[in-house]
Amino acid sequence: MRAMVLSAARTPLRLEDVPDPEPGAGQVLLRVRACGVCRTDLHIVDGELVEPKLPLVLGHQIVGEVVDGGSRFTVGARVGVPWLGWTCGECRFCIAGQENLCDRPRFTGYDVDGGFAELAVADERFCFPVPEGYPDEQAAPLLCAGLIGYRSLRLADNAERIGLYGFGASAHIVCQVAVAQGRRVFAGTRAEDAEAQAFARSLGAAWAGDALAGPPEELDAVIVFAPAGELVPAALGHVRKGGVVVCAGIHMSDIPSFPYELLWGERVLRSVANLTRADGEEFLALAPAVPVRTEVETFPLEAADEALARLRSGELRGAAVLIP
Ligand SMILES: [Zn+2]
Ligand SMILES: [Zn+2]
Repeated sequence: MRAMVLSAARTPLRLEDVPDPEPGAGQVLLRVRACGVCRTDLHIVDGELVEPKLPLVLGHQIVGEVVDGGSRFTVGARVGVPWLGWTCGECRFCIAGQENLCDRPRFTGYDVDGGFAELAVADERFCFPVPEGYPDEQAAPLLCAGLIGYRSLRLADNAERIGLYGFGASAHIVCQVAVAQGRRVFAGTRAEDAEAQAFARSLGAAWAGDALAGPPEELDAVIVFAPAGELVPAALGHVRKGGVVVCAGIHMSDIPSFPYELLWGERVLRSVANLTRADGEEFLALAPAVPVRTEVETFPLEAADEALARLRSGELRGAAVLIP
């Protein structure tokens, strides 16, 4: 099969012919129909996540068609493969229903090969049926941008006024869910990014502007999607007493020191890590009911580097998706 392969950090992906993967016990073999590109993929390429399997096929938002293997799905079924590829089932976190924090997890497109390829294998227990009504490329971003965004939104409690800082693939989905739930969304972007601000307003945001300066009114919670540590003290300064700041990314630049006063008043600063299968089932049932519509830009498989470059430069509107 053809695959885009990462051989070492900080090098371009290369199109290679590699042997077809073979499904093991409990695994499905999928023909990849679409695979979303995530900021986590950039962090892996850039060497900021330091222990990838190498060489590696990236990609953890796979929409694929079952061609062989496993017993859960029939041949031809359309399934989604997320970042959480396998958990041990035995550690204290798995037993407590927090499999997102498993001590020995395997992540798709990091510990095991992902979907920047024509074929992929996945543990069938960690796959999701893909909701009907979504074309492949529009379903793909639901699997990480949507799912982890949704988990972040849940951790923001019942915030009525919610800030989404960094308006990319994840925020554009979370914004639609939050607006449908009757919340008011405040979209923070780079000061000069008028295009992202207009995009946020078109999706129902009540305000869109410079994230560092913040909106004209106090917020109940902020989800920080951009990997910029300086947004954390800024966001703490924008939330009310008892408000929550949720860091949704897997990697962020260092958070500058800040006066304790910003945290005082029972403000909460927390991260969100990975997903549980329950998150996935909940979100994939909710998305068509909202209904969430994803804005995507598609690229052929061999243009994966271009897709990553566009994500890095912030030029994408919505999500990038590879079509093998
Ligand atoms: Zn992701
Ligand atoms: Zn575990």
